[in-house]
Amino acid sequence: MKHIAIIGSGISGLTVANLLKKQASIELFEKSRGVSGRMSTRYADQFQFDHGAQDFTIRDPAFKEFLAPHIESGLLQQWKPKLMLLEKGKQPKERQWSDIHYVPTPKMNSLCIKMAEDLNIRLNTEIIKIEKKDKLWFLSSKDKNIYGPFDWVITSIPATQTIKLLPEAITKHTSIKDVVMAGCYSVMIAMEEPFQWEWQAAIVKNSPISWMAINSNKPGRSEHHTLMVQTDNQWAEERIDADTAEIQSIIIKELSDLLSYDFSKSSYITTHRWRYADTKQPAGMDYHLNQDQKLGACGDWFIKGRIEAAFLSAYRLSKKLETML
Ligand SMILES: Cc1cc2nc3c(=O)[nH]c(=O)nc-3n(C[C@H](O)[C@H](O)[C@H](O)COP(=O)(O)OP(=O)(O)OC[C@H]3O[C@@H](n4cnc5c(N)ncnc54)[C@H](O)[C@@H]3O)c2cc1C
Repeated sequence: MKHIAIIGSGISGLTVANLLKKQASIELFEKSRGVSGRMSTRYADQFQFDHGAQDFTIRDPAFKEFLAPHIESGLLQQWKPKLMLLEKGKQPKERQWSDIHYVPTPKMNSLCIKMAEDLNIRLNTEIIKIEKKDKLWFLSSKDKNIYGPFDWVITSIPATQTIKLLPEAITKHTSIKDVVMAGCYSVMIAMEEPFQWEWQAAIVKNSPISWMAINSNKPGRSEHHTLMVQTDNQWAEERIDADTAEIQSIIIKELSDLLSYDFSKSSYITTHRWRYADTKQPAGMDYHLNQDQKLGACGDWFIKGRIEAAFLSAYRLSKKLETML
């Protein structure tokens, strides 16, 4: 059996591992203390927040087939919030979603945790270098360990981080170097009382805020009242190295003005910076695979900054790689 190292355990890395685990011996490397990447859940006391991805649609038949067991088991459930369009100084308007939107239950990270069952994953292991010796790959981690040998290395991490790891000889000849990703700040708010508004999610126009959702309204969530507010990508990108405390006070003021309610008195507020939240310019191919070097890369940013795109990039890479093992 060939040995494959997968760097990253978001949905794309976990998809490759799940699809190839019968044909190859697979080891995943994850820098965080848990799997899920941008589909993670933030815990704070009794509160939980989907502070990255909010929900997703399922359009492609391959994604549908892959997720069917999780829909059947109830792990994935439809989320049907009353959705509003908000803009300061204008009357709120109700919006309809044309597609079904799903969320993992009871938390956003539940799908990736399920996908990670039975896989060999090294958590808290940031890979900082990959090197080839005698046609086999070795990985160096930030804490100075060496892992290997591996026949193949597949990265499933954001574009900027992929460029740092893959040999320049490969990346400079591909559109990987042209990818543009954008950040986002997620402001998480917990309150003692139920929210007084009659909607559960809102798209916000002409504001530093682009989205908000009553997190505790999603199926299976804990009953503690929590509100998730996310900023506009462009606005975040222009302030990506700002102090998060400053960002938080701007957003809390904006939110309080928008909803005519003083959110500064909320019992718990915290802010997370996502450096690579969305993809403004994708790679324009589904994945990268180099049979001579035995290197591959996948992730949402090849196609679009969406969960389904991350899956499809990984799925299509796996189908091709299967024929090369
Ligand atoms: C704020 C926000 C809101 C979003 N909203 C939505 C939404 O509503 N709907 C939707 O469809 N999508 C949404 N997305 C996008 C969605 O989350 C992503 O498209 C998807 O989760 C990407 O999965 P991935 O596996 O490609 O990458 P990631 O989830 O980023 O996984 C990469 C993993 O690699 C790890 N890693 C990185 N570098 C290294 C290294 N050197 N060594 C080891 N491990 C490493 C990371 O810790 C991470 O776990 C949102 C994202 C954000 C941030």
